[in-house]
This record gives sequence, C-alpha cells and structure tokens, in this order.
Amino acid sequence: MIYLKTDEEIELMRESNLLVAKTLGELARHITPGISTLELDKIAESFIRDHKGIPGFLNYQGFPNTLCTSVNEQVVHGIPNKNPLKEGDVVSVDCGALLNGFYGDSAYTFCVGDVSADVKELLNATKESLYKGIEQAVDGSRLGNIGYAIQEYTESRGYSVVREMVGHGIGKQLHESPEVPNYGRRGNGMKLKDGMVIAIEPMINLGKRNIVQERDGWTIRTTDKKVSAHFEHTVAIRKEKADILSSFKFVEEVLNLQSEK
Ligand code: MG
Ligand code: MG
Repeated sequence: MIYLKTDEEIELMRESNLLVAKTLGELARHITPGISTLELDKIAESFIRDHKGIPGFLNYQGFPNTLCTSVNEQVVHGIPNKNPLKEGDVVSVDCGALLNGFYGDSAYTFCVGDVSADVKELLNATKESLYKGIEQAVDGSRLGNIGYAIQEYTESRGYSVVREMVGHGIGKQLHESPEVPNYGRRGNGMKLKDGMVIAIEPMINLGKRNIVQERDGWTIRTTDKKVSAHFEHTVAIRKEKADILSSFKFVEEVLNLQSEK
C-alpha cells in the first residue's frame, strides 16, 4: 500500500526533515578526531527533543540509539559507541525524527579530519549519485530510473552498489512502500506519482558490493572491509521536479562546502 501525501502533509514532512537537516548541521560542528559516536548520539537526541521532535530510530525494532553511525567499512545501521573517531575516518550519520506525526530521514557521510583522496572521491560520487537519482524522481517516471541513474553514475567510476539495503517510502511510518533500490533498469518498476514521498539513499562501496551483518545484529559492513559511503534525502515526487524535503544546507555551511543545487 502506497500512501500519497496531500500538499499539507508534504509541508508537515518538510518540517520533520528540516529538523533532521538542522540536527545533522549541529553534528557537523562536532565531528572531529577524538569525539565518539555515542557523544554525537547524545547531541542529536537532545537537539531533536529540544525542538519538540522524537528521535525516529530510537527503539525502532529495538534499535538502541537516535543515530545510526557507520564508520569506514560499515555501510549502515552502525550502533553508536564510546570509541573515539580517528583522523582519516569517515562516518555515515543517518538521522530520523518524528514531528507532527510524520517522519524525516536523511544521512550524510562526514570526513573526520583529513581523509585520503580516493575516499573523498567516493564520498563526492555517492552524494552526486543521490542527486542523479533525485533527477529521475518525478511524476510519470519509474522506480527503476532512479536506481539506474545511481548505478550508472557510480559503477562507471569503478565503485559498487549495495543491493540488499534500499531506500523506502516514508510518511507516518519510517519505512513505507515502495522499496527504492539503488540499482535498476531504465523503464522498469512502478510508475512514480505526484504526492509519493520516498527516501533515496545510495550506499556505495569503494571495493566489492558484498556486505555482511556484524554479530551485534545491526551493523552492516563490507565483506572486503573497504570503505562505504551513504547519503540520503527524503523527497516528494512532483510533476516537473522532485521536491527535496531534507537538506544538506546546514551541514555544508559548517563544512564550508558549496551547498546543494
Ligand atoms: Mg536514513
Ligand atoms: Mg532511510
């Protein structure tokens, strides 16, 4: 069952996603060598609660924290811990918040201090592939076009696409139909309709695409232990152009990067 959202509901979802965007921006100011992912988790939880939101992941199917923090070869669903982040690490921070009855969901992979050039390139390509996917997220397009755009952009650069973990519909539930794969064939899959809201979240590996789950029952990492990157936006399908409800603006102001298009 796919729930189409009304214009009013999309505006509520913009607020939920704005809170997530601002939380990621707050975290960006703290991500430096020496801080632990558990400290980041506490900052995020306080920030969300201070702004009248509810952490979206905390207790979701038993997940123990506010953030998923996935370091280096970890792909997604990493559990925050007390280990300090080190110079040269990358950390994917995935954040969800519930506000006004609707979820926001967005993720950004951060560099910790100075990071090797090949890893930086992976991060840039993964983020760019997210926008390539978003370009396809318009009324009348098909789900496969999103995955195709992401896969084509990243594989042509020598990276690989995680297949087992996918994006998703989002709304009153954190995960709704449909599943949104980061691979696919042009013209395949369901037709996208104005009012659908989906989270697009490429998980792209420097090495091979294969993943395993750690013994904690949550953390997904690459089998070859090479670095993985993850960026996510929540977007509403519209007639001409997708409406990106989440934002990297607050993160990229802190990082002094040119902000998203
Ligand atoms: Mg997410
Ligand atoms: Mg998601």
